[in-house]
Amino acid sequence: MVPSLAPSLVPSAIPAPRPAPMPSNGAATRVGSSAIRDLLTLTGRPGLRSLAGGLPDPATFPVDAIAEATARALRDDPARALQYSPTEGLDELRAWVADHRGVDPAAVLITHGSQQALDLVVRATVAPGDVVVAADPAYVGALQVLRLAGADVVPVPGDDDGLDVDELGRQLAAGLRPRLVYVVADFHNPTGATLSAPRRTTLAALADRYGFVIIDDDPYGLLRWSGTAPPPLRTATDRVVTLGSVSKVLCPGLRVGYVLAPPAIARELVVVKQAADLHTSSLAQHVVATVLAEPGFLDAHVARLRPHYHDRAVALRDAVRARFGPRLELSDPAGGLFLWARFTDDTDTAARLAGAIDQGVAYVPGPAFAIRQDLRGAMRLSFATTDPADAADAADRLARAFARA
Ligand code: PMP
Repeated sequence: MVPSLAPSLVPSAIPAPRPAPMPSNGAATRVGSSAIRDLLTLTGRPGLRSLAGGLPDPATFPVDAIAEATARALRDDPARALQYSPTEGLDELRAWVADHRGVDPAAVLITHGSQQALDLVVRATVAPGDVVVAADPAYVGALQVLRLAGADVVPVPGDDDGLDVDELGRQLAAGLRPRLVYVVADFHNPTGATLSAPRRTTLAALADRYGFVIIDDDPYGLLRWSGTAPPPLRTATDRVVTLGSVSKVLCPGLRVGYVLAPPAIARELVVVKQAADLHTSSLAQHVVATVLAEPGFLDAHVARLRPHYHDRAVALRDAVRARFGPRLELSDPAGGLFLWARFTDDTDTAARLAGAIDQGVAYVPGPAFAIRQDLRGAMRLSFATTDPADAADAADRLARAFARA
């Protein structure tokens, strides 16, 4: 009970002092909330078919393997699994990542998802006002990290072959001096584009010539269902930081990712991570290390994921194409989780979103990913959580939502 003052003790003539504002340095305003994470709060509505989130299909999570690995960690090694652990990460997991990616274990730092890896790299390399180049449109989570750091994000357009490196080359020749160039070289979020092999070579040569570092954010690379993967950027220059994650391959909830960095950057990342959170969850690392160490597990698991997502991509693409025809241009990705759709008339996807949710379908409007481009006519459709049998219904709902007035 809060004791109340006797009415005679309340001074009525003296205005109550205004409460002091809660402190804020403006960081949250600078970053802006993620339109996608905001949408996720709506997309849990019963009956809604969400093509909005970048969520992997929970039916693919290796639940039994994770349950067994968790039980084993708690039974066989509880003192390590539940104790503080080294900032760099669990030795077994670093060794697995190093082997998987063909790098030295000393280059590997385990992080809480690749999102944290990106944050640490940016914190360790970017000062307010520094230029960072990104393809426009861009992954929203990367824009948030860059804006939080006060980076001057300079957009360079992309196409079906990824970032337009010739345009970047022209801007560099004209005096642009980025500290970082951020790319999602395989199955870009949101466009699904893969940076072509010749463009990788050119980008690496530009990094060597102009002295910037390339961040190759790679959570989707294993989800390739057609074509052959171009060589990783880090094989063309040592000025690359690669970000990886188990989120799209095992599950995102364990929050296990990693960064592969050249030695000078790796040393600084460890210190920045110490300040951020000391180390990545010991238990989560034990679980992931055990699951991945099982001989043949990952190959067999990925061999199931690829056709799973391919079938979903094809079903949704065909269903949407059948309803929209030439009014909507659709990407044709070779992997990943997303279709990128662009209206060829003057449809505004942001303006139609509320109506679409009323029709029982959600997507992410293009402007959520825009750095400078006008993307009102674009939207990202995630096929990952839509069963092929439901694709026609999802496309029907979209067709109703975008019916011409
Ligand atoms: N990078 C990109 C391009 C992504 O799409 C995502 C997740 N949607 C992330 C990073 C973050 O993934 P993680 O779960 O590993 O933090």
